[in-house]
Amino acid sequence: MAKLLEGKPKAEKIKAEITQQVQSLKMKPVLASIQVGENPGAEAYVKSQKKTAEALGIEYQPHKLEKETTEDKLIEFIQGLNQDKSVNGIIIQMPLPAQIDYKQISQFILPEKDVEGMHPANIGKIVFGKAKILPCTPAAVMELLKATGVDLYGKEVAVVGHSEIVGKPLSLLLLDKFATVCVCHIGTSQAGKLEEHVRDAQIVIVAVGKAGLIKGEWIQEGAIVIDVGINRVGDKIVGDVEFEEAEKRASWITPVPGGVGPLTVTMLMRNLVEAAKLQQ
Ligand code: NAP
Repeated sequence: MAKLLEGKPKAEKIKAEITQQVQSLKMKPVLASIQVGENPGAEAYVKSQKKTAEALGIEYQPHKLEKETTEDKLIEFIQGLNQDKSVNGIIIQMPLPAQIDYKQISQFILPEKDVEGMHPANIGKIVFGKAKILPCTPAAVMELLKATGVDLYGKEVAVVGHSEIVGKPLSLLLLDKFATVCVCHIGTSQAGKLEEHVRDAQIVIVAVGKAGLIKGEWIQEGAIVIDVGINRVGDKIVGDVEFEEAEKRASWITPVPGGVGPLTVTMLMRNLVEAAKLQQ
């Protein structure tokens, strides 16, 4: 039976380190959040980020723009925050209204204030193993893998999902640790090869958003399973992996909820402190 790889204990440890680093900075770091329009999901993120930030001694500055805001107006607003020396990090809340393309907009945040780690300059640095600010979810996954104490060198890893926010940057971080990485996506599934790659993997990381996509019986004995997926099924939140069956085979498995999620917001705060140090 697998051991549970829970995010909260690891998050608490990292938060203690962040608090110390915040205290050693010469100023109180400031995280500015931009929300465009009303949305319950974005409101919930803002509330949770504010609570986490303030508990760590970080000032959280929520900005809300009206839902009709154009891309040009949003860019102007971002540039104002870029120039504001008191602001150390900027985060744009999702979802955004249809007239705004996140990929287009996020490039206007200065790389040294890009606490989500999604600016092309920050993503590019991952390729060279030089990134100081990492995308939050891949960074959370790497922390969970570290917590298992397993050396990634030479391990067969299947990453399922190749999104820009999770799968692609995560694959590069794993390569940097000399894991042998197989990145699976819709093409892999359509070619009927997903099961084969998952069965071959000593570490399986899934970030797709489809409940039950990864069958528990595909997990090899002793594998590590990290489930990034979040799916609402009835009144329950589940991941992408069939948990009960996978748990019988794996050595470590993340619960959903309670695995990757609690660490993601902690990574955002760690990035903010890193950003503040870069600016000092
Ligand atoms: P996304 O942008 O929709 O990406 C999903 C990926 O899965 C894409 O690469 C897609 O490939 C691939 N895919 C779709 N169907 C597939 C299939 N049948 N077989 C194999 N691959 C398939 O989503 P995301 O933003 O990366 O998020 C993925 C999941 O993680 C979601 O459930 C999200 O809520 C969750 N998430 C959780 C956290 C957290 O903190 N816990 C953070 C971020 C995301 P194509 O693009 O080629 O179709």
